[in-house]
Amino acid sequence: MRKITLDKLDTLFAEIAKINKLYLPVDTAAGAKYEEWAEGKTLSNALNTVRSPKDFFFPQTENLVDFKMEGKTIEIIDTRAECEDFVIFGIRACDVKSFDILDRVFLSEPVDTYYKNRRDHGIIVSMACTRPAETCFCGTFSIDAASPAGDVVCHKTEDALYLDAKTEKGEALLAALASLTEDTDTAAVEEQKKLIAEHLAKLPLKDLSAEDFGDGKTNEFFGAPEWKELSETCLGCGTCTFVCPTCQCYDIKDFNTGHGVKRFRCWDSCMYSDFTRMAHGNSRNSQLERFRQRFMHKLVYYPTNNDGLFSCVGCGRCISKCPINMNIVKVMKKLGGKKNG
Ligand code: SF4
Ligand code: SF4
Repeated sequence: MRKITLDKLDTLFAEIAKINKLYLPVDTAAGAKYEEWAEGKTLSNALNTVRSPKDFFFPQTENLVDFKMEGKTIEIIDTRAECEDFVIFGIRACDVKSFDILDRVFLSEPVDTYYKNRRDHGIIVSMACTRPAETCFCGTFSIDAASPAGDVVCHKTEDALYLDAKTEKGEALLAALASLTEDTDTAAVEEQKKLIAEHLAKLPLKDLSAEDFGDGKTNEFFGAPEWKELSETCLGCGTCTFVCPTCQCYDIKDFNTGHGVKRFRCWDSCMYSDFTRMAHGNSRNSQLERFRQRFMHKLVYYPTNNDGLFSCVGCGRCISKCPINMNIVKVMKKLGGKKNG
């Protein structure tokens, strides 16, 4: 394990930025957001960025391919460019876990090469949460806020940053920073982990359980009468899906440039009324059906298809951002189960 005092953090960032592009959460008037580091930018202490770091691997819009037309000839232009290694610093445990969930979608056959290119080049430096918020419930999905995954795992104390390499990528990064950091034991980190565990044990959602959901529960929950009341006031605004680190629906659209076509992929939302509109009509005609789809996907369909892994990481963004104060916790409590009922 390596250590650097906090007064040298800017030097550390400058050194990383010399090697790779470095992105980190910074405070803005609209909340914390990831920005490329430049001198004068300081690391935010916020737990959640407003938008999750899924943008790095699955951007909100991306140009997939261009078609150039001349007479009767169509040229297909591959817009993909091999990206360079980049470092994302300060990702919380919940958001790091969301990458596993996205990987199962985008890296299973047929592999999404756009996503894979960025995933291969991203170096994840995670940050333990010293004081998880009242909206946090990552523990419900067996995520430990004190021990995130990542290529390098960081713990920040009052006066120092502790860095622990967990992968080859992480070891290479820390080796390049060796002259700035010093070797240390794990005592301070272990102490911090204990304090975090004590704090987690006091959070209001500490007992929220997902055990009644999961693999094979479609028939049990699909027809539940509770969906009506739960979905009644949903505006279908899609905010919950856009801030969610694990939502991965998208739409593909072509734009006529006058001399060709640009094909874009854009985030979409299963909460939107036209999400399932097809030539024959729409297979989900009510907000109840759309609302049910989102939560059944996270709590039942995804785990059914992915060895029991839930498609929620308990980040709490949907709790703080939904304009009508509806969220996955309310759904789990209402439907669920013996422990949450
Ligand atoms: S459903 Fe809500 S709590 Fe779960 S990962 Fe998405 S935004 Fe976070
Ligand atoms: S649950 Fe809330 S955030 Fe999500 S679509 Fe409905 S109103 Fe919007």
